[in-house]
Amino acid sequence: MKKRWGLLLGTLLVPAALELNLRASGDCPARDYGSPCTQYSVMHPNSRPARSARISQLQQERAQGKHLSADEYQEHAEALLVLIDDPEFPANGIACRHTCVMLIRADLSPAAMRYVRQHELEHFITPEASETQVNYAAAKVQPVGMVVTAVSSVWRAFGRSSSLRCTLAGLWNTFHVYFLDAS
Ligand SMILES: [Zn+2]
Repeated sequence: MKKRWGLLLGTLLVPAALELNLRASGDCPARDYGSPCTQYSVMHPNSRPARSARISQLQQERAQGKHLSADEYQEHAEALLVLIDDPEFPANGIACRHTCVMLIRADLSPAAMRYVRQHELEHFITPEASETQVNYAAAKVQPVGMVVTAVSSVWRAFGRSSSLRCTLAGLWNTFHVYFLDAS
């Protein structure tokens, strides 16, 4: 019985502590993302109209309820992809809406790579969807990849951490945006 109370208390206290820490993190440095879409989209070998046509086709197919396999989605993602070989790249992936290119860091594991490709593709197919909706839609197709991506993102955040307080605030904020539909 004692164990259960401890578990219940922990389940309530840990998120409360993380929430308070996040609210007190105004002095933590904001990450500078620069303009990666402008910088890297030019590396894509195909023309923008071809990429845009592919996205329109995918949107139509989704609206018609057509089912695509996980491999078919991966093929579409491949055609929009620029791999970024830079460990300092500030995200797992970015969907550049204006250039119709997805930028994905090259050092992801195969499972995380499949998930992040699916995730960025979902941003193109449903541009009105929130980050959380995109996250769950991609996780339906690549569930293992979603877990691997989440774990490796936490691992990487601690690896480059200079302040535990700020790292925890950043991760808790990310959890809000990707899982709780808050921004
Ligand atoms: Zn996203």
